[in-house]
Amino acid sequence: MAAAAAVEHEQVERPTCWCCGNTFDEQELSRLGSHTEVGVCEGCARWLARRARSSAEKGAHNPGAVMRRATLAARGRVMRAGLQDWPVLGPLLRRLNRHLP
Ligand SMILES: [Zn+2]
Repeated sequence: MAAAAAVEHEQVERPTCWCCGNTFDEQELSRLGSHTEVGVCEGCARWLARRARSSAEKGAHNPGAVMRRATLAARGRVMRAGLQDWPVLGPLLRRLNRHLP
């Protein structure tokens, strides 16, 4: 009986994003090429792309680079505060995140 329950638990366990820790369906995660055990969700993949762009633009003072750095900083503050998990605000923030540069 316990073994059956353990198997059932494994079957319903969903993979988690290695960045935010939330659970997703497997098709919603992007896996790393050489470390397929590591998967990130769409929102975190966008965040990583922004960080990579920000690193490439370090020291640049054009309006686009300044706006992207401000957006990245604001996103970090939102994540630290846990606002993305709030019932109404969270979905709005995730939708906004999909459309930010
Ligand atoms: Zn994530």
